Amino acid sequence: MKKFSTILVAIDFSDSSDNAFQAAMMLAREFSAKLLILHVINEPVDLRGFYVPHISFDKLEEEIEEGAKKLMETFCRQHVKEFERYATFIDPGIPYETIIKRAADEGADLIVIGTHGRTGLDHVLFGSTAEKVVRKSPLPVMTVRLDED
Ligand code: AMP
Repeated sequence: MKKFSTILVAIDFSDSSDNAFQAAMMLAREFSAKLLILHVINEPVDLRGFYVPHISFDKLEEEIEEGAKKLMETFCRQHVKEFERYATFIDPGIPYETIIKRAADEGADLIVIGTHGRTGLDHVLFGSTAEKVVRKSPLPVMTVRLDED
């Protein structure tokens, strides 16, 4: 297996994905790889023109995107220290599909995700995004578990 040169880490701003991010950053340093940091805005069902007029739905989407960009900036300020080979992405979509697609589009050779996300359901080994990425990704996937004991 060749060494990793582009690593994509998917973050949902949970403690679990913070932990996955630390692992991805460590690998990126170790392999002198590029780090791609992706957050997916969970696409709401398109109800434009049904419940709300177009204009307010578009405004809502804009505000959600603005909020996500701010979270990403704060995240990078706090977590990315003395490391320059990185890029950030904020993509709308279904998280597992979008993670796999962005990784393929950018020619990543490893995906790193947390075993759990913001919902943090303890009784399942994997959250749903983690499980689907592992099952469907043609690329290697590393899952990182957050031990809370
Ligand atoms: P989950 O399967 O939702 O419990 O989340 C497991 C992991 O998938 C998280 O720790 C993240 O690494 C990733 N993930 C979940 N949702 C998103 C999202 N909206 N954007 C990017 N990564 C996500």
